[in-house]
Amino acid sequence: MSSTDSKPQHKADTRLAHAGRDPSAFHGFVNPPVVHASTVLYPDTATMVTGGQTYSYARRGNPTTDSLEGALKDIEGAAGVKIANSGLNAIALAILSCVKSGDHILIADTAYGPTRHFADTVLPGMKVSVEYYDPQLGAGIKSLFRPETTAVFTEAPGSLTFEMQDVPTIAAAAHEIGATVLMDNTWASPLYCQPLTLGVDLSIQAGTKYIVGHSDATLGTIAASEKAWKGLDTLYGAMGCHVAPDDIFLGLRGLRTLSVRLERHQRNTRTVLDWLGNQAPVARIRYPGLETDPGHAIWKRDFSGASGLCAFDFAAGATQEQTFAFLDALTLFGLGYSWGGFESLAIPVRLKGMRSVADVDPQFQSVRLHIGLEDPEDLINDLDQALMKAFG
Ligand SMILES: *Cc1c(COP(=O)(O)O)cnc(C)c1O
Repeated sequence: MSSTDSKPQHKADTRLAHAGRDPSAFHGFVNPPVVHASTVLYPDTATMVTGGQTYSYARRGNPTTDSLEGALKDIEGAAGVKIANSGLNAIALAILSCVKSGDHILIADTAYGPTRHFADTVLPGMKVSVEYYDPQLGAGIKSLFRPETTAVFTEAPGSLTFEMQDVPTIAAAAHEIGATVLMDNTWASPLYCQPLTLGVDLSIQAGTKYIVGHSDATLGTIAASEKAWKGLDTLYGAMGCHVAPDDIFLGLRGLRTLSVRLERHQRNTRTVLDWLGNQAPVARIRYPGLETDPGHAIWKRDFSGASGLCAFDFAAGATQEQTFAFLDALTLFGLGYSWGGFESLAIPVRLKGMRSVADVDPQFQSVRLHIGLEDPEDLINDLDQALMKAFG
């Protein structure tokens, strides 16, 4: 669908409200229909054999999928967008669209754990060699390039430990050797970081998180540059990928309010972290939006906002028993992994098997928080009583 009402000169919030919609095509209704379908009928054989109508086969898309793809294409400034079943599915498809047997892929050591699992289990069987790199190496990535390096997979900030990386510098180096640059941009969402403007070719979202935003569906999105689009489109079609219309609809519904939700996530996170940073058991906050964070300068240069996901380390001497006691004492923060909904969450950070370049201290005691849309004063009180219970 054409995003008829969204123009390049419009600002991000206007595009969020208008992109990917064409009410005049659906009797004036604001939202597109949720098309449940398999068979598509043709008026006559001539139309059938010439492919002379917009929709030909359910798997190849319908007005609902077109609407979400069109909206994201506009928001990400992409040549094309594909929707996947989950964030991990989007990551796997994006990687498979740009590597082949004999290739070498560089992946940030701080990438999302299941990304590593995919790379370590599936790619070697296809004779793609996988190498992890220190996310903070910047232009030093050149020293890892081989003649067969065809892809560089970035993610910022890093999963669980929140290191930033210099994506524009890494992307420029990768382009010099013709490699495709991928970025898992789930933390910032396409609203607070626009990977394609940083030189990324395949911008990936776990749409499950902030796009859906209500903890009620899983989705993944891949926005491609001109260079990467054909490979992605071909792979997606050949693999028979298709996402159910109800989940697409939840993505579209979430997308419209992304900006107001993120603004509140950001504000609440700042309020909670300003308090948390002053608590005796807490040694360090991990959140590039904070001025004290080592990744702050890069964040400020490349991102326009910070979301609700952060972590903090307990001071040396804290035990795993204390970390678990703290987590078990929380009442408003749920213990759960998949973040990005309206509710606050907490997990213990466990890095075992998740890093191969960085040395990980086995005593490392850290907690990841997702700061939801609750009143931050209630969240602070909850954290306060849990710290008291665990640390006295
Ligand atoms: C959650 C997450 C994913 C995976 O998304 P799913 O929809 O759960 O598969 C990928 N990358 C990051 C950074 C995530 O946080």
